[in-house]
Amino acid sequence: MTSAYIIHLNGIVQGVGFRPYVFRLAQEMNIKGWVKNSSHGIYIHGEGEEIENFYRRLIQEIPPLAKLTSVECRETKYYGFDQFKIIESENEEESDVLISPDIATCKECLTELSDPENHRYHYPFINCTNCGPRYTIIKDVPYDRSLTTMASFSMCKTCFQEYKDPLNRRFHAQPVACPKCGPVVQLLNHQGEEIPGLGIEQLLSGEIIAVKGIGGFHLVCDASNSKAVKSLRQRKERGNKPFA
Ligand SMILES: [Zn+2]
Ligand SMILES: [Zn+2]
Repeated sequence: MTSAYIIHLNGIVQGVGFRPYVFRLAQEMNIKGWVKNSSHGIYIHGEGEEIENFYRRLIQEIPPLAKLTSVECRETKYYGFDQFKIIESENEEESDVLISPDIATCKECLTELSDPENHRYHYPFINCTNCGPRYTIIKDVPYDRSLTTMASFSMCKTCFQEYKDPLNRRFHAQPVACPKCGPVVQLLNHQGEEIPGLGIEQLLSGEIIAVKGIGGFHLVCDASNSKAVKSLRQRKERGNKPFA
């Protein structure tokens, strides 16, 4: 008889492409059942001829950004599922799952960013399952878009198609966005009014710009303009100390 396993993994297993990884491995090994996020990590119900091998590979081939702190596996009832699914996350009161840090833009995203044909050409908030914001946008676990600051941006058709496609790099990438549906950049003056441009003119004329990113502000000025640097030092009250 084919056996079934319940597998419970904890550690950094959310926001690092873990569910898509489990899904793909299950497809490849003809394992049926489900995977879901919970406030205590990831649960998998798997059944099929290859279940033992599946379990071995599951632990060995985890995504590069994932980290396991606990692994449990036991036999369970065989249901005879006819497919493998990512199912709705469970949200319990208590939580002990670790949260992934924000991850620098990956190589693939950088390539897309500079490709004029790509619909995320020059889009500053480009990200995928392998990179992008995590810690700074997560309000609560389990890690799902509805529990992040991205909840208020509904995906456009193109983004949603990528998000839904198991073979896509953005499959279940919670912060997925594009110029059509995601956050946009704006240039504001002292009064908080929107002004045209991206701040280049202002930088060239010696002004200082505060760039609001997802994790805080970066102060920018033209480092070759001594007047601009001096005024930044005065305003920051940093006489001589180097800037970070
Ligand atoms: Zn990426
Ligand atoms: Zn979009």
